[in-house]
Amino acid sequence: MAVVIDGKQIAASYRETLKEQVTALRSRGIIPKLKVVLIGNDPASHSYVRGKERAAEEIGIDSQILRFDEDMTEAELLKLIDLLNDDHEVHGILVQLPLPNHIDESRVIMRISPEKDVDGFHPENVGKMMLGLDTLLPCTPHGILHLVKTQTDLVGKHVVVVGRSQIVGKPVGMLFLNESATVTYCHSKTADLGAMTRQADILIVAVGRAGLVTADMVKPGAIVIDVGVNRVDNRLVGDVDYEGVKDVASAITPVPGGVGPMTITMLMHNTVEVASRG
Ligand code: NDP
Repeated sequence: MAVVIDGKQIAASYRETLKEQVTALRSRGIIPKLKVVLIGNDPASHSYVRGKERAAEEIGIDSQILRFDEDMTEAELLKLIDLLNDDHEVHGILVQLPLPNHIDESRVIMRISPEKDVDGFHPENVGKMMLGLDTLLPCTPHGILHLVKTQTDLVGKHVVVVGRSQIVGKPVGMLFLNESATVTYCHSKTADLGAMTRQADILIVAVGRAGLVTADMVKPGAIVIDVGVNRVDNRLVGDVDYEGVKDVASAITPVPGGVGPMTITMLMHNTVEVASRG
């Protein structure tokens, strides 16, 4: 029976450390400031942004959500980003994705100053991460790395990542590679997914398909990180068949309460990091 990796509790203790750092910054007159830009009415985005606001408040970060209608133009958004880039009191800028179809996501990401890119999506930060240099890391991959490190050493472990998106799959594999793990990537064109996942000491699944990974696809004793968030019958579930896999794995993250709380916490980490640079 697997140990449940309690992301909520691990995130809470990480946030205590961040709170202390913010108190120290404030005593030096530095107030970490995060601006979140939210466009349109996507209910999931509104809910994510509220979660970020709550976490910021708890830690002592001054956060503000800038809300705009769906018809905001790309030019207006780019102008807003320029203003936030130039505002010396603002440490972190986050534009909540997805954006309306008429706005080019990559143009927006590239406009945010890399020094304030607390999502870690700017190509300069992605490049630095690839090179193993100190930089703002993308939040979900960084959160996953922290969770796995609470369970095991990484050197020489075989990490299998299912999913190769720019925001989760690709970068998370890179972070584990930088830690001297052996990394295999799988995706929708992988010929025999089970044959790959069964080799994993650490299996990370970031696809967005409920129940994709079943018990027969997991090596006994593996650590399983379920990144997926899927709504099934009005309930949130991951990509891993939790009930079956928990009897095979040595440790597993639940959904909800696994990776999600760490993602938000790493956003706070990045904001505090920028503020600490002075
Ligand atoms: P994307 O849709 O961008 O990427 C999904 C990936 O899964 C793609 O690389 C795709 O392959 C691969 N894939 C699709 N079908 C299969 C299959 N049958 N077998 C193997 N691989 C497959 O998703 P994201 O990375 O953005 O998100 C993944 C999941 O994680 C979602 O459920 C999302 O909601 C969740 N998420 C959770 C977060 C959290 O904090 N908890 C944060 C971010 C995301 P290909 O490239 O070939 O198309």
